[in-house]
Amino acid sequence: MYQIIDGKRISQEIKDELREKVAVLKEQGKTFTLAVIQVGNDPASSVYVGNKKKACAYIGIESLSYELPQETTEDELLKLVRELNNNSAVGGILVQLPLPEHIDEEKVLLTISPAKDVDGFHPENVGNLSIGRPGFVSCTPAGVIQLLKRSGIEIEGKECVVLGRSNIVGKPMAMLLLRENGTVTVCHSRTKNLKEITRRADILVVAIGKPKFVDASYVKEGAVVIDVGIHRNENNKLCGDVDFDSVAPHTSAITPVPGGVGPMTIAMLMSNCMNGMPK
Ligand code: NAP
Repeated sequence: MYQIIDGKRISQEIKDELREKVAVLKEQGKTFTLAVIQVGNDPASSVYVGNKKKACAYIGIESLSYELPQETTEDELLKLVRELNNNSAVGGILVQLPLPEHIDEEKVLLTISPAKDVDGFHPENVGNLSIGRPGFVSCTPAGVIQLLKRSGIEIEGKECVVLGRSNIVGKPMAMLLLRENGTVTVCHSRTKNLKEITRRADILVVAIGKPKFVDASYVKEGAVVIDVGIHRNENNKLCGDVDFDSVAPHTSAITPVPGGVGPMTIAMLMSNCMNGMPK
């Protein structure tokens, strides 16, 4: 029988731990303010931003909301980011992606001060992760590590295969598994003999962006499978990059979608904010 890795429960556990720590720091007069910027009113982004603000309120972190119109120019957005960089009352800055097409996303992310980059996307934080220095770590892969650890799944010495090499999931995921002493292979769209490689994995992390792509033929009997993908199917139901029903019986543990990796991203964002609080 396989274990279902319960991201909803684990993310709640993390938020409750953070809430307690933040309360203690608040008593000592230490606070944290997260500035959340959204440009335009993409409905999915509005839901994500709303959830982030709710999580801040739950944990005891202040949030400042900047809801800018779709027509906001790149210069106006960069000016706001620079002002927030220089505002000592603001501890973290988050720009909700995607941005409208007329704004260069990379330019904006590069402008956020690495010391306030709670999303962990700035090259300085990416570089720190790769050379083992402290810094903000991309939230979704950090959440995957917590799911594994808090489910009693050892990473050290395991064959870990990451399917996907994006800057926000696949690459930092590989670095984090390496930091935990896993033996890591990264696969992508040009990988040859993909199934041969994924079938070697003790821990398979799938972040490929293709609904139900991974079926049982990609998975070794007894492997741990982590599904980062999120999609809505034709009936508006959520599904992942893994075909859960056919894969789960062949695993020892697997994350569901929804209720697996998804809830962990916000919990780890809150953890990044907490780590950015004055000690
Ligand atoms: P992405 O930027 O589209 O990257 C997908 C990766 O998969 C790329 O590296 C691509 O290879 C690789 N790939 C695509 N087709 C492939 C194939 N047929 N065989 C092997 N590799 C293939 O996606 P992402 O941003 O990493 O996101 C991945 C999934 O996670 C999406 O479903 C996204 O919605 C979800 N997501 C969830 C969360 C969360 O909070 N749970 C957060 C972020 C993302 P190339 O590099 O060669 O093109």
